[in-house]
Amino acid sequence: MHDFLLSRSTPGQYARALHSTVDTVAVHLAGTRAPRSDAGPAELEQLVAAVDLDRPLGDLEAVLEETRALYLDHAVHFHDPGYMAHLNCPVAIPAVAAEAFTAATNTAVESWDQSTVATLVEQRLVDWTADRIGFPAADGPDGVFTSGGTQSNLQALFTAREERLSRPHPRARQDRLGRLRVLAGEHAHFSVARAAHLLGLPRDAVVALPARRDGCLDPVALERALHGAAAAGDEVMAVVATAGSTDLGLIDPLPAVADACRAHGAWLHVDAAYGGGLLVSPSHRGLLDGIERADSVTVDFHKSWFQPVAASALLLREGRHLGLSTWSAEYLNPRHAVRPNLVDKSLQTTRRFDALKLWMTLRTVGAEALGRSLDRAVDLAREAAAAVAAAPDMELLGEPALSTVLFRHRPPGTGEAEADRLVETVRTALFDTGRAVVASTVVGGRRWLKLTLLNPRTDLADVEHVLGLVREAAREAAREAAREQAPLSTAGAR
Ligand SMILES: *Cc1c(COP(=O)(O)O)cnc(C)c1O
Repeated sequence: MHDFLLSRSTPGQYARALHSTVDTVAVHLAGTRAPRSDAGPAELEQLVAAVDLDRPLGDLEAVLEETRALYLDHAVHFHDPGYMAHLNCPVAIPAVAAEAFTAATNTAVESWDQSTVATLVEQRLVDWTADRIGFPAADGPDGVFTSGGTQSNLQALFTAREERLSRPHPRARQDRLGRLRVLAGEHAHFSVARAAHLLGLPRDAVVALPARRDGCLDPVALERALHGAAAAGDEVMAVVATAGSTDLGLIDPLPAVADACRAHGAWLHVDAAYGGGLLVSPSHRGLLDGIERADSVTVDFHKSWFQPVAASALLLREGRHLGLSTWSAEYLNPRHAVRPNLVDKSLQTTRRFDALKLWMTLRTVGAEALGRSLDRAVDLAREAAAAVAAAPDMELLGEPALSTVLFRHRPPGTGEAEADRLVETVRTALFDTGRAVVASTVVGGRRWLKLTLLNPRTDLADVEHVLGLVREAAREAAREAAREQAPLSTAGAR
């Protein structure tokens, strides 16, 4: 009875189950040849629907086989060189090993009495990351692990709002809420606007500043907006700069933005969900110069640090501001507790010990190895852009800023609208065949294919291969269009 539960009397079952699982995954990994299968939504729906949840198989081996066929065979594989769509990375093996530790132990890090040493491990990594950012120790930096950049951004903006509202002001809190503004670049992540909405700010609270020619946040426009807000009686509760925009990888001019924020007493949040990996880059750390002047920083370890989902953090220059979201419960984290309770700093209560993944990665390969892996992806993006630029039937949007490449297939004589349409046709065709997964987006009113490169083992030949698939898909689409046209033209000729 109950021997499916992990305990001191079931180490054998546990070890057998995990070994079998790991073997299944290892065999599967060795056999992957594409980022995904070619199964369509209807087939997958059928597969899932066919499972009778009320009739357990009663045997893990059988379940592993069923789940392999259901899940592994059809999962999207981020480690495959043909996967170039979003900000997903191949994961560090020590981090995957850490997942086995935390899953078995099931630590929840919210209170000292649930986590003890795990609290200290997370805190060490928070301090380490704050140090890498360059926050002055004298300001008492602090932070907390979160489920992702979305949550980090929400907590950053919440903290900024509360910090702003804690400043003396003739108007009442309720009256001030409607006058709060967030100034951000046009390319700020959508989670910024949604966070503002969740925080009860008015619809127009987030002001997208006109971009500089290169697409980055324009410090001159920022200055103007800060003055304008003050003149209008609005309060700027935060300025959001992006270090690695999701589409273009653009890094806003952090020193100039920090100058403007300092001059106006505005909270500076740097969303480095994507670019945060540069903190450990041997070659490109300089791109983040100025980040140490932020009030808060979002870093996604599950993007450019090769960690499994979920692993992210919010770091604050003045850690004391984390207290602005602290809520106490007698049963969990009473006021004036003598031991640290991380729930005091987090928007979550029960929370995974995600920090162990980064910890074990740093202890195994070290930060520089992570940085070098990201550097390789940055270099590859430049090589890929050069290859696209050299191809007469491809159009490159611009030089990559980080590790994304935006381009489209546009043989000579193809109009803008046709090139736009081709982007979606091609992207869908690649996905449906399962041979490559690329993203698409709109920049400057036109649609582009996007390669997000985060795999240091992907090389130029892999990119060339995808370019070949793009051409093939376009040709196939053209043939299909011609076939559809054919009966009409035959009829017309008669
Ligand atoms: C990915 C991303 C986010 C959101 O992070 P999640 O971990 O997906 O929640 C926020 N900002 C930027 C710039 C991002 O690229």
